[in-house]
Amino acid sequence: MLKDQDRIFTNLYGMHDRTLAGAKSRGHWDGTAGIIKKGRDWIINEAKASGLRGRGGAGFPTGLKWSFMPKESDGRPAYLVINADESEPGTCKDREIMRHDPHTLIEGALLASFAMGAHACYIYIRGEFIREREALQNAIDECYDAGLLGKNAAKSGWDFDLYLAHGAGAYICGEETALLESLEGKKGMPRMKPPFPAGAGLYGCPTTVNNVESIAVIPTILRRGADWFSSMGRPNNAGTKLFGISGHVMSPCVVEEEMSIPLRELLEKHCGGVRGGWDNLKAVIPGGSSVPLLPKDIADEAIMDFDWLREQRSGLGTAAVIVMDQSTDVIKAIWRLSKFYKHESCGQCTPCREGTGWMMRVMDRLVSGEAEVEEIDMLLDVTKQVEGHTICALGDAAAWPIQGLVRHFRNEIEDRIKHKKTGRVSAVAAE
Ligand code: SF4
Repeated sequence: MLKDQDRIFTNLYGMHDRTLAGAKSRGHWDGTAGIIKKGRDWIINEAKASGLRGRGGAGFPTGLKWSFMPKESDGRPAYLVINADESEPGTCKDREIMRHDPHTLIEGALLASFAMGAHACYIYIRGEFIREREALQNAIDECYDAGLLGKNAAKSGWDFDLYLAHGAGAYICGEETALLESLEGKKGMPRMKPPFPAGAGLYGCPTTVNNVESIAVIPTILRRGADWFSSMGRPNNAGTKLFGISGHVMSPCVVEEEMSIPLRELLEKHCGGVRGGWDNLKAVIPGGSSVPLLPKDIADEAIMDFDWLREQRSGLGTAAVIVMDQSTDVIKAIWRLSKFYKHESCGQCTPCREGTGWMMRVMDRLVSGEAEVEEIDMLLDVTKQVEGHTICALGDAAAWPIQGLVRHFRNEIEDRIKHKKTGRVSAVAAE
């Protein structure tokens, strides 16, 4: 279990002063100029050595991503863009950083931007996050007044401006290239890659897009050292992590814990356990709505990190843990996600535009049991045709939950179809 002295987010619950004075009293903005004096390479190497992997879902090594940015400018400016869209269902961790501990993010933005040669950073915040935007803007204003942002930011010799841009609430704008389009004032539609943002991103300039939590942990890593961060968690899964637990637990919460914590320990220590006790657990989605669910027998042993969950054909994703107890109609739960992805598809590519609707309509019938057993394999086949054949990951995100459902709960789907035919269906039907 994470020790209090190793906690990075010391005001996650808003119990303390979130202003600049409060943040400083908790150790933020301490020696920022001194860190910058150590140079770009030192910061990137520390980020690499810390083992930090991106906290937005993909888990790509953060330091390595930074190193893709050009060392010398070819005349174009470089940008850091922070993805604060946080629209994956179940995910609610970055908002806590922004509204209660915003200075971790702002200081991180300065340090990361310097490391990538960027004099400007944009934070793209989700449309629905009104209070979070206000809190973050207040903190940014405080930093300008105190000389921590702007010319010679924090007396480091580096000029740095930080802008907050407010989205309009489309899920797809959390995809990094759609986010860049939206930031440029266009419709939020994903771009083909390559070129990758490090080559041609915002306004065609070298850009790195990072998640809020990935940037907010950077100042503490640089102050306490890469070794400290990498000493937590299993190899290749380093550090502390914010987990957001929702669903059928006694006390849903967002909590900072050590990476690789067992799922059962996470739920029992911080959430009062599963409603009705551990044996009442039916399934868990371990990393936000796009990753396949795990049934109880796998959840019994689950280790909450990138590699363990990938080995189980699921993923850590955004570490948004959605807990479902025995009362859950798991087919209907996944149908609801299918409906969501169908609604959020931007429609650019055929497999996603047509496939998400097709999958949702079959899921409709699986919920009510008004289907043929053979359709389960047909549905699986469609998910395979969508997966990996689209411009962005929304296609995969729509396919994976269904694949997980069929993999682990095929019996339940078949039973419902058979019972429907014999007139003995008791399950809840889709509305
Ligand atoms: Fe748009 Fe879906 Fe294609 Fe992504 S996968 S670009 S959301 S149509």
